[in-house]
Amino acid sequence: AEARLVVVRATRISPRLILVVMRDITERERVEQMRRDFVANTSHELKTPVGAVSLLAEAIESAADDPEQVRIFASRLTAEASRLAALTARIMNLSRLQSDDLSPDADVSIDEVLTAALEAHALQAASAGVTVVRGGKRGLYVRGDAQILTDAIGNLISNAIAYSPAGADVGVGVRLVDGVVEVVVTDRGIGIAPADQERIFERFYRADQARSRRTGGTGLGLSIVKHAVSRHGGEVRLWSRPGRGSTFTVRLPATEGPADLPRDKRDKK
Ligand code: ADP
Repeated sequence: AEARLVVVRATRISPRLILVVMRDITERERVEQMRRDFVANTSHELKTPVGAVSLLAEAIESAADDPEQVRIFASRLTAEASRLAALTARIMNLSRLQSDDLSPDADVSIDEVLTAALEAHALQAASAGVTVVRGGKRGLYVRGDAQILTDAIGNLISNAIAYSPAGADVGVGVRLVDGVVEVVVTDRGIGIAPADQERIFERFYRADQARSRRTGGTGLGLSIVKHAVSRHGGEVRLWSRPGRGSTFTVRLPATEGPADLPRDKRDKK
């Protein structure tokens, strides 16, 4: 970002010389703006499910004589409540990632991250009729926080499944390129329009509202991915073409792995 300077003090120290003290306010303002946007977006996003929950509760009260109606409203209430819970969890996750008290400092096995992320979305894949195919290099390590990385990769896998048609394959691969671990999540789903490709990493942004609504998304997943990966000194790359599919590549600096493990004992392939 460009520097934005404000004059803090200007003192004439000689007829031809003025001492000017300036401060760069860009970073502080940017953080402040981010915080304001976050609170505004979050309150807005929470209003809908919270409203639905109280409307459904009222509906249950007034339908008390009709067990069938009560059953229908109650099951919708359960669905809204779990949507609300998922949304809240994601908001907490994101605000934790944006705070400064995170220190990614352990050796993290990419194999374990992928296993956990795939496990977490096995049910989603099964019910969507999507097959997730895992491949690529094994035995790679990065430095960081395993839970955060698992959630981030899991979000990409979850999106790949959600935006794929039934019967499609989703690929999850790993490679090592010039000291960088690349985790590649590929789908042959709906794809992302060029104009949306930058914006989908913003909080709450969803390309094509109607389509996204259907999957019950929150628009927070990719924002979490981006923050998580950049907290680990990495980056996320995206290739996509509408109707053809999308490939998200998470790039993280590779490390040697746990020091107490002799090199030849490590799983390499
Ligand atoms: P959501 O919860 O809506 O999926 P995300 O932040 O994870 O939120 O994604 C933001 C938007 O990016 C989605 O609403 C969707 O429009 C688009 N998107 C993300 N991943 C994919 C994908 N694999 N294929 C097509 N569109 C995607």
